[in-house]
Amino acid sequence: MSDRLRGTGAFITGGASGIGAACAQRFAAEGAAVVLGDLESSDEAATQVVQRIRSAGGTAHTIECDVTSATATVDAFEAAADLVGDLSCVVASAGIATHPNYGFDAGLLNIAPEHWNKVLEVNLTGTLHTAQAGGAHMIQRGIDGSIITLASFAAKRPTRGVYSVSKAAVWMLTRALAEELGPLGVRVNSIAPGVIDTPMTVAASSGRDVEAWKEAQAARTTLGRVGQPEDVAAVALFLASADSAYLNGSILHPDGGLASSFAGG
Ligand code: NAP
Repeated sequence: MSDRLRGTGAFITGGASGIGAACAQRFAAEGAAVVLGDLESSDEAATQVVQRIRSAGGTAHTIECDVTSATATVDAFEAAADLVGDLSCVVASAGIATHPNYGFDAGLLNIAPEHWNKVLEVNLTGTLHTAQAGGAHMIQRGIDGSIITLASFAAKRPTRGVYSVSKAAVWMLTRALAEELGPLGVRVNSIAPGVIDTPMTVAASSGRDVEAWKEAQAARTTLGRVGQPEDVAAVALFLASADSAYLNGSILHPDGGLASSFAGG
């Protein structure tokens, strides 16, 4: 590791699990003081991530943050700033594949309103709340910061119903935010992963044998494997660091080639 984020503070929503947890660990290894925001129900998992980071000599804290509440998200950012000072990087990784009562493969024609609303509330509105709280923090403090959203390969493939809709909207949200916040010194970019091996993959496999499903997904990539959370964290590190200083409103695909093969690049 090379201290690429030394002296910075980072807030990561959905930091208890999967991609968010990998970002937290990588950022901390690169010298950032990280704050993991996640649901109260994920407190145990978040605490384990914090302990791993601290055992490796890093700085990490966990704060309850339900991104579907604008006020709770603002409160969480204020609490995070009290702990680590300026937050120059935000990763909006909180997300869900589907409503717990409905499958990932549910079509749109008869979609239950609670399913539609829940996925958009967490994935889209939650990302907006996170960017609002993080952007306001950076602008008020005069920080040249970086906000990173999590879209998906599904943003460019209309095969996952409301999840695809939510991620396409995250992609446009990212560009609209980049337009508005870029002139104020805050860059906003998106990561759109392919299939990454995280707990969400279980939900995405829709009751099929998970290992068989992952093998089938791996076979579709030109690199012959599904991704690991660390593959995404490496891209997030680039977007958080000064190496991406001239990037704004962009979308990057750590996906083993899926977007290139199946979604126009
Ligand atoms: P994950 O392992 O399920 O982690 C997501 C985290 O977000 C979980 O800790 C989850 O808590 C939390 N969360 C859910 N609702 C929340 C809320 N309202 N407020 C705060 N936190 C909340 O999933 P992941 O695979 O790391 O996914 C991270 C992001 O990448 C998501 O936006 C996902 O759509 C996107 N992505 C993932 C993949 C993939 O293949 N894994 C591909 C493309 C894009 P609970 O566990 O308690 O729900």
